Amino acid sequence: MTTTTSDSARSEAPTARSGGVRTRREDNRSNGQWALGQREPLNHNEEFKQVEDPLAVRTRIEEVYAREGFDAIPGDDLRGRFRWWGLYTQRRPGIDGGQTATLAPEELDDRYFMMRIRIDGGQVSTEQLRVIAGVSQEFGRNTADITDRQNIQLHWVDVADVPEIWRRLESVGLSTTEACGDVPRVILGSPVAGLAKDEVIDPTPAIEAIKREYIGNPEISNLPRKFKTAISWQWDCVPEINDVSFVGVEHPEHGPGFDLLVGGGLSTSAQFAVRLGAWVPLEEIPEVWLGVVKIFRDYGYRRLRNRARLKYLVADWGAEKVRQVLEDEYLHRKLVDGPAAIAPDDIVDHVGVHEQANGLRYVGFSPTVGRVSGDTLAAVADAVDVVGAGKVAFTPLQKLIVTDVAPDRVDDLVDRLGALGLQASPSTWRRNTMACTGIEFCKLAIVDTKQRATDLVAELEDRLADISTPHPVTINVNGCANSCARIQVADIGLKGQIVTDDDGERVPGYQVQLGGHMGNTPELGRKLRGHKVTAAGLGDYVVRVVSHYAESAEAGETFAS
Ligand code: SF4
Repeated sequence: MTTTTSDSARSEAPTARSGGVRTRREDNRSNGQWALGQREPLNHNEEFKQVEDPLAVRTRIEEVYAREGFDAIPGDDLRGRFRWWGLYTQRRPGIDGGQTATLAPEELDDRYFMMRIRIDGGQVSTEQLRVIAGVSQEFGRNTADITDRQNIQLHWVDVADVPEIWRRLESVGLSTTEACGDVPRVILGSPVAGLAKDEVIDPTPAIEAIKREYIGNPEISNLPRKFKTAISWQWDCVPEINDVSFVGVEHPEHGPGFDLLVGGGLSTSAQFAVRLGAWVPLEEIPEVWLGVVKIFRDYGYRRLRNRARLKYLVADWGAEKVRQVLEDEYLHRKLVDGPAAIAPDDIVDHVGVHEQANGLRYVGFSPTVGRVSGDTLAAVADAVDVVGAGKVAFTPLQKLIVTDVAPDRVDDLVDRLGALGLQASPSTWRRNTMACTGIEFCKLAIVDTKQRATDLVAELEDRLADISTPHPVTINVNGCANSCARIQVADIGLKGQIVTDDDGERVPGYQVQLGGHMGNTPELGRKLRGHKVTAAGLGDYVVRVVSHYAESAEAGETFAS
């Protein structure tokens, strides 16, 4: 739910609490900011992007690589431009985490691809879901992961099959266009947009307009790095950690519209987004969104890849300058001042049974750490049709929702999906544990995540069955120092690395961050010096920490506090 209030600290420039982005050291070196005339490519990524619009690789995939096979693909296409079409090489099996940093890229590459299907807003029809399921079964060895950006990620894709996969996806309005790469990635939207009881404006038309006009548009297909968007009336799409977010808010004079936030992001220098203090009506979202994208395109830092996210520019400029440049150089008009959207106490995951505005129900189900399969998705589509429900939606918390369920068919649906391992009343551990791709497929990974987190959930359900905490504890598991599973905003964040065990052996493990939180009191987790745990000892560690929290916390006290 989103309400109005006066301005908040979010409108201020980044604070010490909000993140670790260091501002730019003043020097005379070019940062590759196009608007300042710094067009000289300063690293290899910038070079191959300038040689040719990476989107152009599609023709070669269809006409050359699909016929001639993996060995015909040169490096800049394979590890560069393919990403613009949602394709990464996956990790060669059998390479352990200790080798991740030492092997050359070609030694890490498998001959198969990860393929990301973008689902802007997260909702699909059962027809679309069946196509995804079929592609997974036929071309992806039945793999399918629900990512924390509402994508479906497949694995084991052979380049020979890519044109046929595209043909099938695009026949039902789905695509992999710009699902990866230095582009506007999938747009997060409320999985229950258009349905929720407390939604005042459904922003789906803005999401659709952006997708239609700008996704795959060469005008913005060469950004400094990835660009993440969230648009929702509700605070249910992690707006505080996107590059640009629009969140519903009531303006005291102008009525319902959207609060504008920019510059959020996690990864190596986590930063919560800051408000620009502006109120944006629904119909202006695409224009304002494009303006922010173009600021990033033109002023974003391109020299160093690890500083090429919008958050670094926002940290250097501050909210006031970002808004001024947006108004003066891109919109050529002033934005309306507006109040802050207020975050709920806790992140909203939509799990369980909920009444819609039209009296029907939506039901949120929890797979374990987002892992499903083509078979499961096909069975979900069948179940949804059998009970006469509406759509399926994927959430930014790796959950799955079925919409438009008649009240008297809810139990039937819950039973049917329960038989598939999708629970509408999951344990707190199944519900609140997330994991990234990890060493199974990711070339950057140092440790396993999905299987370790799945085993951890089962272990905690067993060992902590009799323990209740004043507040649910979230556990996010990453395979490396990147933050695809958002470790900095979990109560217990686990960053994969090689650690030393009690016998002095170097083994897979995690560095621990504690006390991260999103919602109305956002905090980044704190790293404690030397706070590391082996993968084998993870269960004991979490049981110890949670037991202590359960015993010592006051009623209602959160883990972070
Ligand atoms: Fe890969 Fe690291 Fe991201 Fe996990 S956090 S998916 S290991 S890059």
